[in-house]
Amino acid sequence: MFIWGAKGVVADLGHQGDRPCPTCEKERPFHLMLQYTARHFWYVFKWVTGKQYASVCAVCQRGQRLDTKTIEAKLPKPPIPFATRGSWMILVGLLAIAAVFGVIDDTSRSSSRETYLATPAKGDRYVVNVAGLMQSPQSKYLYTILRVREVKADGVEFDAATWFYPGASGPNKDMRDGKLDQPGYFSPTPIVLSRDKIARLHADHAIHSIDRAPGPGLGS
Ligand SMILES: [Zn+2]
Repeated sequence: MFIWGAKGVVADLGHQGDRPCPTCEKERPFHLMLQYTARHFWYVFKWVTGKQYASVCAVCQRGQRLDTKTIEAKLPKPPIPFATRGSWMILVGLLAIAAVFGVIDDTSRSSSRETYLATPAKGDRYVVNVAGLMQSPQSKYLYTILRVREVKADGVEFDAATWFYPGASGPNKDMRDGKLDQPGYFSPTPIVLSRDKIARLHADHAIHSIDRAPGPGLGS
């Protein structure tokens, strides 16, 4: 069994000086920012993907991407903590196996997700991090299940589960265990999300997966 995780990290590497920002059309402080994804295997052996440096306006958060090699040659020390950066070397062989499993899982999950997103059907079960939908969420990670009740012209009406988890595995376990059919699993009041809102959730990577129950009767 593998636990595959990833999270986006944004690090502010400090003020680089003021210059005119083309978006703000004003003199603004620019910061050197680093964005990367820390992937982990069993939460212990971590490595980094998708590293991107940028010079970003502190006010409007816009800026330019910078070349990684040029920037790293100038930095006094590596900005990513060692535990994230290099501990993978200990277990190269094992990680290679884990990566293969992870990629296969990611690919099949994302292709079904794209298909189901484009053509929602009654009964589809979305595993979603809904923290972004809330005004003041208690956590950045509130995974739950939204089940399509009805597809409307301008949006989708969902039954929303009343359970929240810090990761996608919680809702997936509930599905496997058949908990969704228990009374009270879903809130009696449905929520309606516009197509725009769903597209935004997807763009924010908040939709972890979409499951469609096989068999006739659904999707019509
Ligand atoms: Zn700006």
